[in-house]
Amino acid sequence: MNAAWPRLLFDEEIGPISLDRIRPISWVMNARAAGRLPLWAVCAALAAGLTPAAAARPPNEQSPTRVERAPETPGHVRQQRTGHFNVSFEGAEQLSLSFSVLEALEAAYWRIGGTLGRPSAPIPVVLYTSAQFHDITRSPSWAAGAFDGIIRIPIRGALDDRRELERVLSHEYTHALIRQLCPRPVPVWLNEGLAGALESDNLEWARERVRRAGKAMPLNTLERPFRSLTQEQAALAYASSALAADRLLNDAGGVAIVNLLRDVGQGLEFGPAFASRIRRTVGEFQDELNTAP
Ligand SMILES: [Zn+2]
Repeated sequence: MNAAWPRLLFDEEIGPISLDRIRPISWVMNARAAGRLPLWAVCAALAAGLTPAAAARPPNEQSPTRVERAPETPGHVRQQRTGHFNVSFEGAEQLSLSFSVLEALEAAYWRIGGTLGRPSAPIPVVLYTSAQFHDITRSPSWAAGAFDGIIRIPIRGALDDRRELERVLSHEYTHALIRQLCPRPVPVWLNEGLAGALESDNLEWARERVRRAGKAMPLNTLERPFRSLTQEQAALAYASSALAADRLLNDAGGVAIVNLLRDVGQGLEFGPAFASRIRRTVGEFQDELNTAP
């Protein structure tokens, strides 16, 4: 298994359009959900003023080899693919970053796959400048990445700290996996907690944050999105969630969590599904967290 270096299947320029035309997100997501369209088709359709279904297929779409590059023009959207990820970005100067992103995502694919399994379909990734990122995702200014069906990563300075890039990508990739297992909402502490617990091998940041606060936030206060929290509150919410998910991974195991996510994805209520798969209620699990050494 050579997970260190992604096999580049596809590298294509998809047209003289700007990424800031990929909006509104709801339109893109609806179009993608309705037609199961790849991102390039949505981009191309928006650029041409067509419905996505009417967008022309790019040449060599099925080709497993690298396609000939068109002359590079500022503002063109390019795409690089492995069998597991499709990375779209603007500007040829981002090619090496895109490759680094694919490399880190492939590493996450193999590493996290051992715990939560592997996605059933390639995951779309879009690289943005920071301004585009906050505008398009409406993420709070402290967000390092976002996932809404597409992994969205702000690229400014991304290569300055390789470990941080890998952490952010692993985090967002975990969200993508969870979404494929369970398209319905799950309590945010589980979603963010798993992403936080699996983003790296070291949870000291979370322990330190909870130590400083005195105690972790209880799970029943962490069921809704953290978006409205201040940066300080959010940090404690993420840390509390990550420690809870880590405990769950250690006690119940990845398979039980995957089954829980699948059950909820198929329509079961979270509480009963949790009790059945994890063999204790959420309340009992909270009690165990409270008495943890
Ligand atoms: Zn997250």
